[in-house]
Amino acid sequence: MPIYEYICEKCGSVFEELESVTNRDKPHECPGCGEKKGRRIVSTFSAKSGGPTFTGGSCGRRGFS
Ligand SMILES: [Zn+2]
Repeated sequence: MPIYEYICEKCGSVFEELESVTNRDKPHECPGCGEKKGRRIVSTFSAKSGGPTFTGGSCGRRGFS
């Protein structure tokens, strides 16, 4: 299962939960205050772990008109 990040709307704590896709958008219990106010953070996965970078290989789309 993927790990999702949640932020508590009550106390502002950010926490991670291992959660299935079907349950990821349900409110999650905050480990800080115990309220079920954890709202999922939609992470920008391009910022994490680099990802594949394409260097070169753009196959010369310049020059055609
Ligand atoms: Zn909280």
